[in-house]
Amino acid sequence: MAKKDKTKQAFETRTIHVGGEPDPVTGAIMPPIFQTSTFVQKAPGVHQGYEYTRSHNPTRTRLEECLASLENAKYSTVTASGLSAAMLVMHLLPKGSRILVGDDVYGGTYRMFTTIFHERHEFKFIDTTDTKQTQKEIAEFKPALVWLESPTNPLLKLTDIKSVVAAAKKVKSQVLVDNTFMSPYFQNPMDLGADLVLHSMTKYINGHSDVVGGVLMYNDKKLNQEFFRLQNSIGPCQSPFDSWLVLRGLKTLAVRMRAHEQGAMKIAKWLEAHKQVERVVYPGLKSHPQHALAKKQMSGFGGMITFFIKGGVKESKSFLKGLKLFALAESLGGVESLVEHPAIMTHASVPKKVRESIGLTDNLIRLSVGLEDIDDLINDLENGFKQK
Ligand SMILES: *Cc1c(COP(=O)(O)O)cnc(C)c1O
Repeated sequence: MAKKDKTKQAFETRTIHVGGEPDPVTGAIMPPIFQTSTFVQKAPGVHQGYEYTRSHNPTRTRLEECLASLENAKYSTVTASGLSAAMLVMHLLPKGSRILVGDDVYGGTYRMFTTIFHERHEFKFIDTTDTKQTQKEIAEFKPALVWLESPTNPLLKLTDIKSVVAAAKKVKSQVLVDNTFMSPYFQNPMDLGADLVLHSMTKYINGHSDVVGGVLMYNDKKLNQEFFRLQNSIGPCQSPFDSWLVLRGLKTLAVRMRAHEQGAMKIAKWLEAHKQVERVVYPGLKSHPQHALAKKQMSGFGGMITFFIKGGVKESKSFLKGLKLFALAESLGGVESLVEHPAIMTHASVPKKVRESIGLTDNLIRLSVGLEDIDDLINDLENGFKQK
């Protein structure tokens, strides 16, 4: 399923060739890792575009070119982590800005907003899956920024990005979409009208669980200058080697995403038919309450599955104990399959009452489906269900 933009080469081609020109000095087909902190100047102030790696680095520049292209944006800024990309946005907004946030955003984002930036800005958390209510809130609250994540973690709830953007434009609010779960392969929020897109590159973009990184994509040249100023002044830059690893991981993004989805779809259907499973949440299943929106807004459904096992903590723990291939770990989007129990792990700090009120019960299990053989993965899950 190659995504053709008439003005551009296909997505697959761009993952490999944008920012991937051979090294002009040596002809090396793969980009050099400019593992250097500083750059020699011919005379004071006379340099070749690079002075110091906190500000710019040629390996990182190549990655930024490629990522901007993949998200159909003009510019991108690569940062040391997904959260440092979020931090730059928080510093970009003038003090006292109003920010409307989805109530189901990534836990680290929630923690940053409520414990670090709560004194600088005014945050309001709402259920953005309710489009009418969100549009009403935007009209009344008139936020400087609307912060969306779609699908969310771990409940895989979707927000109608286009409709939210339409309401935001009326009151001159900017819209940012954290697109980490879909990667630029399955969803392009810029095409739906978003002003900013954020990714934790740690997940699908790098895809090999060996790098932490983040990126912001956008079209506004002024924003590019502002993010440069902020990145350079605050300092959360990614190392040249890590940028190089992401460039390498990116080359297979399209084939990885297709394989993640193929595996996830099979496993979701298999789980849905399993007698020890209460309910499966996967945007690609007809049973997903927002399946129609998923089909409209995304070009695929991704590799993340959430399901409710029959029982509670005891049954969940037995299941996890029985797994060998699915590694028990936080994070997602790597080539290896991971399993996670949000109530005990990532969301343990959320009080049980609050967890239950948003549907995050003790029998909820999250899978990040990797690229192993599908039958091996299903065998592993079956062993989990058999474990006493
Ligand atoms: C992991 C994650 C982040 C944070 O990214 P880091 O690279 O871990 O700092 C932000 N948003 C989402 C949706 C994530 O999954």
